[in-house]
Amino acid sequence: MKKEEINGKRKELMDAAVLAREMAYCPYSCFSVGAALLCSDGSIVTGCNVENAAFLSLCAERNAISKAVSEGKRKFEAIAVMGGKQGETAEYCPPCGACRQVMAEFCEPALFEIILYDSSTTCKVFSLSELLPESFRGL
Ligand SMILES: [Zn+2]
Repeated sequence: MKKEEINGKRKELMDAAVLAREMAYCPYSCFSVGAALLCSDGSIVTGCNVENAAFLSLCAERNAISKAVSEGKRKFEAIAVMGGKQGETAEYCPPCGACRQVMAEFCEPALFEIILYDSSTTCKVFSLSELLPESFRGL
């Protein structure tokens, strides 16, 4: 993990994640999350968490990845994630296990950056291989 200043592309991703968080549909947990995915073509695809009464919720990270894949994008370089109690400032919000596994499907684990933000002037940057060592890779 690296603690780094927020600038350049990371700033752009964080700003997009902030806006995506505002779209969260989270009437059950009241915990809103935004994610912004940097695709290898340079585009940014965002996602927010989407809940439902049966608690079959979709995380912001998987929402963003699913949107990107549905647009024909298959390779990603980084994702910025921020979340917290709805209406309150963000706190560090690491991806859940399911999201980490989905990231492993489309990303190079040693190179893919997961950027976590808590409304301060710095962010924490992890590689996917740090957060999901020895991921399941199928047959
Ligand atoms: Zn998740």
